[in-house]
Amino acid sequence: DGTEDSGEKHRISRGDVVVGRILGEGFFGEVHDGEYKSPTGERIRVAIKTCKDCSAEVKEKFLSEAGLMKNLDHPHIVRLIGVIEVDPVWIVMELYEHGELGKYLLEEKYILSTSTLILFSLQICKALAYLEGLNMVHRDIAVRNVLVASPDCVKLGDFGLSRYVEEQEYYKASISRLPIKWMAPESINFRRFTTASDVWMFGVCVWEIFSMAQQPFFWLENGQVISQLESGVRLQKPQLCPPTIYSLLTRCWAYEPRSRPTFGQLVYSLNDIHRMELEQESDD
Ligand code: ADP
Repeated sequence: DGTEDSGEKHRISRGDVVVGRILGEGFFGEVHDGEYKSPTGERIRVAIKTCKDCSAEVKEKFLSEAGLMKNLDHPHIVRLIGVIEVDPVWIVMELYEHGELGKYLLEEKYILSTSTLILFSLQICKALAYLEGLNMVHRDIAVRNVLVASPDCVKLGDFGLSRYVEEQEYYKASISRLPIKWMAPESINFRRFTTASDVWMFGVCVWEIFSMAQQPFFWLENGQVISQLESGVRLQKPQLCPPTIYSLLTRCWAYEPRSRPTFGQLVYSLNDIHRMELEQESDD
């Protein structure tokens, strides 16, 4: 069946992977850069995730992210190259040279154009529309989880919290490692995660992009966020954010999940706004 096929496709051998320097610290262990020689002889630059204290239980959690990514194929989602399931366990992904979008925004903030910021938002939105079509909920949409492949291409990553939603259409989260300041009210109150709560989080992520990676609600404690949201307070328009984009964000932050737009609708609107911005920038 299809599941076994994709399992086969992603089994790679350690001899084809050369490990390089440390890129960063992941939740489970160090992430290194490196090179992978594919069966066709192509050399691909990769990021290698390792698992430090990898008991059977931890290993299962570590590999679950790769398990989900095996079934994904989209130009704006981090691409899994392969998995080595025998100890030491490695997850091998395509390398995105420019690293996390959050850091990239801070470093490049004086040279990024409005159209580029809209383009990044549109690309993340397309990735999420693709997940929406697969009934997959990401649950951790934030600039820290987006990688920059090139100055005009970003990739959504970090599927560590994502889940397929079953018939009841939501997933009740049990863990406490939750990004409260990005979360929809129903996620904070009832641990309810749906595509509509992903839409709320996407709105916060776009707010981060236009505020050049400021932390949302940095002026509040986690415990103060829900009462603010319930009294109608929302993140304000960042200075660089076009009013057309901010108007979409306020719709993503409708209290009622059903009143929020879908990712399909957001792609459509963001495409229009992006095209208009490009025309305007070429006039200037
Ligand atoms: P985890 O989700 O397990 O906490 P991350 O995905 O955050 O781990 O990875 C840790 C760091 O490694 C990130 O901050 C990022 O800088 C780097 N990194 C991870 N994957 C890639 C990749 N595919 N390309 C480039 N850098 C990466």
